[in-house]
Amino acid sequence: MNTCETCNFLMDDHTIYTPKEYLAILADMQQCLKQGDFILVEQTCNFDDVLKSTWYSDYIEHIIQCKKCGSQFVCYANTYHGSARFYRKDTTPHSQANI
Ligand SMILES: [Zn+2]
Repeated sequence: MNTCETCNFLMDDHTIYTPKEYLAILADMQQCLKQGDFILVEQTCNFDDVLKSTWYSDYIEHIIQCKKCGSQFVCYANTYHGSARFYRKDTTPHSQANI
């Protein structure tokens, strides 16, 4: 684990079951960005465009990164299949494996 005190409150791996839950997590991510501790790395669309009268697309993804430790957090939704997940991207180099 290479999270720090800035980002360790974020859930490590979280399967999302309802659109409501997904939108709540997106709101949390927006809040993180607003506070300035995170940067937006990647997004398929603006947070505001995710859900209007309908979902933005079949696949929506946002990635934010902690400014302090560099941990990246991914939130994606496959609106076609109805699955979504929030998780910390594993960026640990494999060379650190202790064999
Ligand atoms: Zn961090």
